[in-house]
Amino acid sequence: MGGRSSKLCGDGEFSTEHARKVRPVRHRVQPENRLAARAALLNFPPAMNYHISQRAAALSPSLTLAIDSKAKAMKAAGEDVVGFGAGEPDFDTPQHIKDACATALAAGFTKYTPSSGIPELRQAIADKFKRENGLDYKPSQIIVSCGGKHSCYNVILATCQEGDEVIIPAPYWLSYPEMVKLAGAKSVILETTDQTEFKVTPAQLRAAITPRTRLFVLNSPSNPTGSVYTPDEVKALGDICVEKGVLIMSDEIYEQLTYDGAVVKSVASFSPAHKDHTIIVHGFAKAWSMTGWRLGFLAAPEPIAKAIDAVQSHSTSNPCSFAQKGGVAALTGPQDHLPKWLAEYAKRRTFAWQKLNSIPGLTCVNSKGAFYLFPNISGAGLPSTEFCARLLDEQKVAAVPGIAFGADDYLRISYATSLANLEKGLDRLDKFVRGLKS
Ligand code: PMP
Repeated sequence: MGGRSSKLCGDGEFSTEHARKVRPVRHRVQPENRLAARAALLNFPPAMNYHISQRAAALSPSLTLAIDSKAKAMKAAGEDVVGFGAGEPDFDTPQHIKDACATALAAGFTKYTPSSGIPELRQAIADKFKRENGLDYKPSQIIVSCGGKHSCYNVILATCQEGDEVIIPAPYWLSYPEMVKLAGAKSVILETTDQTEFKVTPAQLRAAITPRTRLFVLNSPSNPTGSVYTPDEVKALGDICVEKGVLIMSDEIYEQLTYDGAVVKSVASFSPAHKDHTIIVHGFAKAWSMTGWRLGFLAAPEPIAKAIDAVQSHSTSNPCSFAQKGGVAALTGPQDHLPKWLAEYAKRRTFAWQKLNSIPGLTCVNSKGAFYLFPNISGAGLPSTEFCARLLDEQKVAAVPGIAFGADDYLRISYATSLANLEKGLDRLDKFVRGLKS
């Protein structure tokens, strides 16, 4: 479509009507000029409508990306923007992980690997589950993928289809409902508020389950709220899924990032039945700061792992070969970076939480995990999208509107940024909210 004007119609089709109007007149070509004629045709193809599949057209564009790209454009234009939108650690990947990858690359480890990951990494992941979670998985039950996002997508695609329902507590990580749409299934959203620390209750879950329920999505610690379910709360939700025969996709990508002694216990670890009903999704992005490496993993009951293996083998094939060697180093090497990162996150979290609660009209529950706070902005009297758009325009602070996560009364603040940035940005947020009130 290079160079051609097209516009997106309401139904998601691209119209070339405009392109046809501006297309230059073409002249008859001599046979010897056929190649040139072909090239000309490629540059100016006949007018046509591009059909975008219903599945693709139904997707909502990412609000987080929209805010992020606007903030980046403002920064590039020299504006002093403070970004609270980051969904990634601001620390570098630990050196020994980079070294392992560089060594593998230099040694020519640059070819296809088994589609679900190299045996060494699948074993290291199985060992991690045994060591840290008390869970026994065979390497054949582990699938290494191109990020936790890819793992989630593969799970949903391999287990859900038209007519199926997927239960997702809100506020949710914004990609879950879009993935459910891509699978042709339907999301059933369970609303929660800061009154319950954004936790869904067993009664809510039970009432939402129907014969069509295929999957329950549990994400603890949570993006976007930072909320962490206690082991008892996780067990109660898991018990219902076992009783009703519902699969659980447990997204544990923030497992290692917790504060105030919060305990994370995987729903799979309560009994063999819980494990048989659970697919754990995880990845290297958060605890090892490897967002750009695109490396995630999952552990699933054997038949589901087999199905996901098939999906992956016909879509992406293996995740990057030398990145996988970095993954082995991440799991088997020293973990001494983590306490330092956690101490830094904890300081920032306390500062940001106190500051947010000091702003008139805002309230914020303290999070126990991940690197997000999710203040309630309903007292400010603006829908979250307008709040964030104006905050960016007027005070040059980028935050993500809660509506992106299914909760319009809130705002997501990532504290994966320096204390100095937090101070500057939250002072500006304070000024902005006070300005709205006056
Ligand atoms: N799950 C959750 C809850 C997340 O927040 C993210 C990243 N923002 C992912 C999965 C995916 O992470 P990645 O694909 O970068 O490994």
